[in-house]
Amino acid sequence: MSLSRMNALDTIFNRYNDNEYADMPSEKIIDFYGENVFNDAAMKQYMDEQTYLSVKAAIQNGTKLSRDLADTIAKSMQTWAQDKGVTHFTHWFQPWTGKTAEKHDSFFNLTPSGKVIEVFEGDALVQQEPDGSSFPSGGMRATFEARGYTAWDPSSPAFIFENGGAGKTLCIPTAFITYTGDAMDYKLPLLKSEAYLNKAATPVAQMFDKACNKVTVTLGWEQEYFIVDEALYNLRPDLILTGRTLVGKLPAKHQNLDDHYFGAIPERIYTFMRDLEIESHKLGIPVRTRHNEVAPAQYEFAPVFEGVNVAVDHNNLFMDLMEKVSRRHKLVVLLHEKPFAGVNGSGKHNNWSIATDTGKNLLAPGKEPGKNLMFLTFFVNTIRAVYEWADLIRAAIATANNDHRLGANEAPPAIISAFLGDTMDKLLNEIEKSGKSDASGIKTALDLVESMPLLEKDTTDRNRTSPFAFTGNKFEIRAVGSSQNCGGPMTVMNTIVGAQLLKFKEEVDKLIAGGKTQDEAILVVLAKYIKESKKIRFEGNGYSDEWKEEAAKRGLSNFTATPEALKAYTGKKGDVFIKSGVFSKKELHAYQEVQYHNYASKLQIESRTLGEMVANLILPASISYQKKLADNIAVLKSIGLGEGDYSAQMDIVKALSTAINGAARGVQAMTEARRAANEAGDIEAQANAYCENVKSIMEEIRTFCDRLEYLVADAEWPLPKYREMFYIR
Ligand code: ADP
Ligand code: MG
Repeated sequence: MSLSRMNALDTIFNRYNDNEYADMPSEKIIDFYGENVFNDAAMKQYMDEQTYLSVKAAIQNGTKLSRDLADTIAKSMQTWAQDKGVTHFTHWFQPWTGKTAEKHDSFFNLTPSGKVIEVFEGDALVQQEPDGSSFPSGGMRATFEARGYTAWDPSSPAFIFENGGAGKTLCIPTAFITYTGDAMDYKLPLLKSEAYLNKAATPVAQMFDKACNKVTVTLGWEQEYFIVDEALYNLRPDLILTGRTLVGKLPAKHQNLDDHYFGAIPERIYTFMRDLEIESHKLGIPVRTRHNEVAPAQYEFAPVFEGVNVAVDHNNLFMDLMEKVSRRHKLVVLLHEKPFAGVNGSGKHNNWSIATDTGKNLLAPGKEPGKNLMFLTFFVNTIRAVYEWADLIRAAIATANNDHRLGANEAPPAIISAFLGDTMDKLLNEIEKSGKSDASGIKTALDLVESMPLLEKDTTDRNRTSPFAFTGNKFEIRAVGSSQNCGGPMTVMNTIVGAQLLKFKEEVDKLIAGGKTQDEAILVVLAKYIKESKKIRFEGNGYSDEWKEEAAKRGLSNFTATPEALKAYTGKKGDVFIKSGVFSKKELHAYQEVQYHNYASKLQIESRTLGEMVANLILPASISYQKKLADNIAVLKSIGLGEGDYSAQMDIVKALSTAINGAARGVQAMTEARRAANEAGDIEAQANAYCENVKSIMEEIRTFCDRLEYLVADAEWPLPKYREMFYIR
């Protein structure tokens, strides 16, 4: 039984000689960057000029494409794809499962007379009907009308996904909706939220820049992940079924020496990274940065930022690629937020900013932030929005996985606060101090702080403990989980800042109508916002207990578990989604229900998996080892040794009994609690019951199992150990 673990270790030692990797398609990335994307260059090549120009204009202005035009685009897309050896196409979408989905169709078809043809027409490009009945819809579709549609998103380019050497598929980014047009995915709300923000932000931007016609959102994601050898992964039912280890003792050395962070990248991992980069670059995913992370076996990738919609698609595609490419190297990428207890988990920092079509980053302070009213306007409004709707940000990052980071004693805390850095903190304090209704006073204050140091990315200080940090020219939402679709949190950011900017414009316009100049009016409103949103600002250590106390005094929310955090969607704060039109009331309730369901299901699967592991792997190994010791004691006794001669062995036998009983009884109690949770009532009640009654028993069982791992002979322990998953590669 334990042999399989030893075999796996042997297999890995033998891998050292075959560290193979793909050839670079060319020495220069520029030669193959985006070659699998139906991008501008491909469109130019495969479309006549008139079509190309119409398509470009439509995409840029977000206007609807006619069916005729769709036919022409489909034709050129097909020709382009077939020239590259593509046989199938699929609508590619992001349902609320959290994974991407695809259903492939061949270009091949039969005419009514039985002739074999290859077609791809506008209809197939624009809309498809996958059998959507198995995707989560939060009850929006009764099973008898299970229709779901995927609708083409022309603003995200089609791409070719290569499945090793086995085949290529043309993938068309789409939104997934019900028969009646309700959203069932991450893309549609995201697109709506960006459009809403644009509508609100453009008139505000025009107060400073008359030439601005559009405001867009930019996102740069930083993807953290763990990686383990496939042979070890395959022996861990918990990793396979839940993505995290449900048991496992922390080794003597883990991240305590901090020697992994930014260390030299191990060779096998390096070749994986390199192959992943090649695949990503072919798909036009601009990954640029790679390094070791804090925990052993933990790493990070980051791209150059892009428009939010394409950036979200790219991140989803990238996560798919990570899993695929790692397998080629006999490695497995773990995207779970907390694969290993006791060491850091993985996040996905979302670097969020807004920009004008005239090329200005609205969150770039420039050389003199104190004189940059345009920047100050967007900066302060963002903070005011985060203050008002912090609970929605918290809800957007609430998942069963992420609970192991947030709310545990780890980065970042479950309390949402904003970190501005010393310079900006002081500047806002100055504006506030100079009086809320005296614009000239504020102006003097701004002039005073004009001499503050140049604000650049490198000079803003770091605060790793803040969930929402200003990092020089963007806000970094650090609490997003590593396996999450960024679409959720990005939708919240766009919506709340949009709503905030509408309110801002209204207030400023009123003051202008009352006789104030534009600058005066803006400063008065900003000073008021700074005052109002002060509670959300925190520059100190977000992990400390003092902060928890202080935050409670300030009245900030501290939702440490998902079911509690999810309430916000349908509470008062959630109204902003409905008012903005980003979600209808029906969609919002459905989305929330899906989140509760995901939570309860995840815990159910974890609890069942743990029960099986205890019964089938951990108890058998422990009992058989205990029997060996007991037999030995019996033999020693029979040859005449006294109690004192085997008393230490007796202690071990007893310790084994305690832990064996503890684990076995724990599983019994957990099974009872699970049954009760399944029958607790509606899905919210079930999620709550899992959170309150099942989770804690799982932790107790784990303690007994980890004790057993310590007691049982190494050669007889069936599960790959943390030290092996951390250090053997
Ligand atoms: P940091 O060291 O602060 O994390 P980096 O330069 O490494 O800064 O950037 C981290 C991420 O932020 C990258 O993905 C980068 O592309 C992204 N980023 C930089 N500027 C912006 C911006 N204006 N909008 C969105 N993301 C940005
Ligand atoms: Mg960063």
